[in-house]
Amino acid sequence: MHNSVTVPSKLPHVGTTIFTVIGQLAAKHQAINLSQGAPNFPCSADLVRYAHEAMQAGHNQYAPMSGLPLLREAIAAKVETLYGQRYDVDDEVTVMASASEALFSSIAALVHPGDEVIVFEPAFDSYIPMIELQGATPVVIKLAAPEFTIPWDEVAARITPRTRMILLNTPHNPTGTVLSDTDIARLEALTEGSNIIILSDEVYEHVVFDGALHHSMSRHPKLAARSVVVTSFGKTFHVTGWRVGYCLAPRVLMDEIRKVHQFAMFAADTPMQYALARLMAEPAHYLGLSDFYQHKRDLLSRALADSPLKLIPSQGSFFMLASFGHLTDESDSDFVQRLIVEHGVATIPVSAFYRDGTDQQVIRLSFAKDDVTLLAGAERLCRIGG
Ligand code: GLN
Repeated sequence: MHNSVTVPSKLPHVGTTIFTVIGQLAAKHQAINLSQGAPNFPCSADLVRYAHEAMQAGHNQYAPMSGLPLLREAIAAKVETLYGQRYDVDDEVTVMASASEALFSSIAALVHPGDEVIVFEPAFDSYIPMIELQGATPVVIKLAAPEFTIPWDEVAARITPRTRMILLNTPHNPTGTVLSDTDIARLEALTEGSNIIILSDEVYEHVVFDGALHHSMSRHPKLAARSVVVTSFGKTFHVTGWRVGYCLAPRVLMDEIRKVHQFAMFAADTPMQYALARLMAEPAHYLGLSDFYQHKRDLLSRALADSPLKLIPSQGSFFMLASFGHLTDESDSDFVQRLIVEHGVATIPVSAFYRDGTDQQVIRLSFAKDDVTLLAGAERLCRIGG
């Protein structure tokens, strides 16, 4: 079409997300896709039936802005049982049109132009653009391979009077690390007496391995009192396409978040909320999720034991990392491209999670795939030659 306007970009450094780029390349080369953190297996048939029944029962108009009371009650009850914190169902729990919307609405509501937001890289690719769109400054702290632990002394040194927020993600995408007791103690000490808000992306809350504890901010009263906890039904119930998540926050924060949510989305999908509320009554679906994904992590790790890749252990999430610097001088992007084109396996280059493209020659593999796909992908990776 003929172009008659010009527009200054609000995100001049941003291109198409890596997940779309790799997804398209994988499709073109019919590669086995271990890239996106989305299941290739079905969700519960009951869940689909519940959504269908909700539609047939006529639940097809707007849900309440803050979410169906039935679903908010189920969320509050789950959080109290698992993490011990009681959130007020009316004022402190909001159903969102995806965890992404929850993050976006929270940042838009709470972060002002000129504020600083501490964010750790590698970071999920939406975080920094969301901060920049508010005219705020991302204060980026790098986590280094292979441990990717938070350098708390550096965090302490980079807190200023303008620090409005610390953005955390546990279990972590892409590294598969989880916060420990020590991390929580450092975070409590650093934020005590400050006005810093913690925005905690916990979409993989039910995917923590080897019996480790998920350190939700809602488990720690001092942190909960200054935190927005964001999570996702998509990751928990294998329905990433439904775009339903939620957030929890003390009322003083939630009042502001809802002001944005009501104008950005107004409400999340109604029939999906009815269906999710019914599935929440069956806790086995989320209580069994760690074992379900640990099996997949172990299956993929074992199948890759004979590959030349060096695996970095995963403590949670849908992901594991693998380093390849001992094999070649290629950049991680070139290596990923070659794996797709020559070997028919798609993964994600970890440099995509660094704003400056830091390349540690590490790739991310998603094991949120059926076992046949995991084994077939591993078999190809074993043949890449050392
Ligand atoms: N969270 C998923 C991942 O990291 C999907 C991201 C996306 O496709 N936008 O793979």
